[in-house]
Amino acid sequence: MTVSDADSLVVITGAGGFIGGHLVADLRASGFRRLRAIDIKPLDRWYQVVPGVENVVRDLRDRLACEEAVNGASQVYNLASDMGGMGFIETHKADCMISVLINTNMLIAARDAGVERYFFSSSACVYAADKQTQPDVAPLSEADAYPAMPEHGYGWEKLFGERMCRHFYEDFGLETRVARYHNVYGPGGTYDGGREKAPAAICRKIITAQLAGATDIEVWGDGEQTRSFMYIDDCLYGTRRLMQSDVREPINIGSDELVTINQLIDVVEQIAGRKFRRRYNLSAPKGVRGRCSDNALIKDRLGWAPSVRLRDGMEKTYRWIHDQITTPAAMRRIYA
Ligand code: NAD
Repeated sequence: MTVSDADSLVVITGAGGFIGGHLVADLRASGFRRLRAIDIKPLDRWYQVVPGVENVVRDLRDRLACEEAVNGASQVYNLASDMGGMGFIETHKADCMISVLINTNMLIAARDAGVERYFFSSSACVYAADKQTQPDVAPLSEADAYPAMPEHGYGWEKLFGERMCRHFYEDFGLETRVARYHNVYGPGGTYDGGREKAPAAICRKIITAQLAGATDIEVWGDGEQTRSFMYIDDCLYGTRRLMQSDVREPINIGSDELVTINQLIDVVEQIAGRKFRRRYNLSAPKGVRGRCSDNALIKDRLGWAPSVRLRDGMEKTYRWIHDQITTPAAMRRIYA
């Protein structure tokens, strides 16, 4: 386990969210005894509340809250950010950029508190738009973030956050680790309400159409845009592996299994055991035309790359969302 021992304090921000919730549970399960989990959401809206963890509700845009958050910590995983799928980030660009306050104040607080190691969750949205104009896109390698022309709002915030991490190492010696996540999915995340991403949204649409006896579903765009999707287990393993490594530059953590959105729907239909007519909404947010992770660097530096097959991860995701939708809210467990 290494960088810190199981008795050192590890802080996870965004812990009420999808990846943060899983990370807290995973660290706890692997023996970390002192975990501080922080999120702005009230506790009853956290996806996972892990027993034995110090759970704190704070707005980490605030400098003092960040100082309290990192007090006594040896490692920080900063996953807090105001974000969502394309439906959210295309319509909340300023809100996304305000998350720059979280990473900025967390870095300053971590430096001042003598934190040993700091993780920042960046995104494939940092990649230059002109390299993602074709469905049969060449996989994006880390150098493709420059010259910079990232996703408006959210992508700029992430790219700026990456630079902050780099310069905090160069100027102050704070050990920072930066992952560029590509489309993470799995049970225990957002599947409705406007912040959900394509895998969860498609599961929800198919499940609700099936339950309502409907014959069609709406699809954003023409369905021929391409993406790669990473299952949460790969994301957690890669994140922790990166944190323990000596890799100081941003690195892709994503799947290289490229599919069109239509192929993703085919997968969900196979799991559901039923096909639907697709109503293509060409004016809905759809993001870049094609995006896939190039995993050469992660294979070289970590000797590993995400490998969970889309069909296997989607099976578990679909079953979880199905349970959420069909179980009355009062009886629903947050994550099970
Ligand atoms: P999420 O929205 O489920 O979790 C983010 C959490 O941050 C939320 O619970 C939110 O309440 C919290 N938060 C927002 N503002 C805050 C504030 N001011 N103070 C404290 N907490 C605050 O998202 P996620 O999918 O778990 O993503 C985690 C991180 O990974 C984010 O930084 C995200 O940008 C990044 N990321 C995720 C994906 C993905 O596909 N899920 C892809 C690329 C990058």
